[in-house]
Amino acid sequence: MKIDIVSVFPEYFEVLNLSLLGKAQEKGLVEVTAHNLRDWTHDVHHSVDDTPVGGGAGMVMKPEVWGECLDELLHLEPTTIASDANEDDDAALSSETQAPAESADGTAGEADDPKTTVPGPVLIFPNPSAPLFTQQDATELSHADHLLFGCGRYEGYDARIPRYYRAQGVDVREYSIGDYVLNGGEVAVSVMLEAITRLLPGFMGNAASIVEESYTGENALLEHRQYTKPADWRGIKVPDVLLSGNHAKVDRFRRDEALAKTDELRPDLIETLDCTKLDKADRKT
Ligand code: SAM
Repeated sequence: MKIDIVSVFPEYFEVLNLSLLGKAQEKGLVEVTAHNLRDWTHDVHHSVDDTPVGGGAGMVMKPEVWGECLDELLHLEPTTIASDANEDDDAALSSETQAPAESADGTAGEADDPKTTVPGPVLIFPNPSAPLFTQQDATELSHADHLLFGCGRYEGYDARIPRYYRAQGVDVREYSIGDYVLNGGEVAVSVMLEAITRLLPGFMGNAASIVEESYTGENALLEHRQYTKPADWRGIKVPDVLLSGNHAKVDRFRRDEALAKTDELRPDLIETLDCTKLDKADRKT
């Protein structure tokens, strides 16, 4: 998987050379390049921002700089959007969904099937007012060949940037990582990148460790509680059943715990469970 990141602080991503992601790069599973957005500026100050049209506090990231940068990284020629696209802004905006548009190579995206390879590059902008990034998104994006992340700063990026690239047929996504505001997109990109790359085949030493996890698979639940040795630590004991060696009982105990824990902490996940896919014992829990 090829990953490009554009930021005004590309040094931020030096940490990606550490740990499992560093090893994955050494193994050739992923190739990560962090670019400095200022390399696409032409003025002496290398400015990437300007005052908001309509007034207000702060600065907004300029579309011209992002445009030159993204054109180069996506191998696109600059063009002008037909003027009728501006006539009915509401209609144009309502068609700007997260669903992959036709990709640059003309093939339609197939977001419904997360096992399908995501065609063409995917351009991702972190944005606190976008839909929440989920494990499902991470799974889908782990099938892409090329991800290009654009880190916002200041008051954010000019709204025409994602709009323009969608109109060019690029699969553009905007995601929030939570209901809070960060200073910039770098942390959000790191979060998404880690969630996506750990799903790549060969990334984890033990492939099974990504199968039974919270939010994962059909009818996803929170994972059951985990314990290691010793069996008694400071008077708190590991549940007896986990020491029994009876795999069926251990599985049942863990499943019941996952259901009870999810019900307590994330009732919203319980509400979306497909009851036809629960077994009889699940339904008693
Ligand atoms: N003015 C924006 C607003 O109120 O929604 C906040 C801009 S924030 C200070 C600057 C950049 O940080 C954003 O453009 C985005 O790239 C990133 N960012 C901040 N919070 C984020 C979040 N919760 N999820 C994803 N990206 C975030």
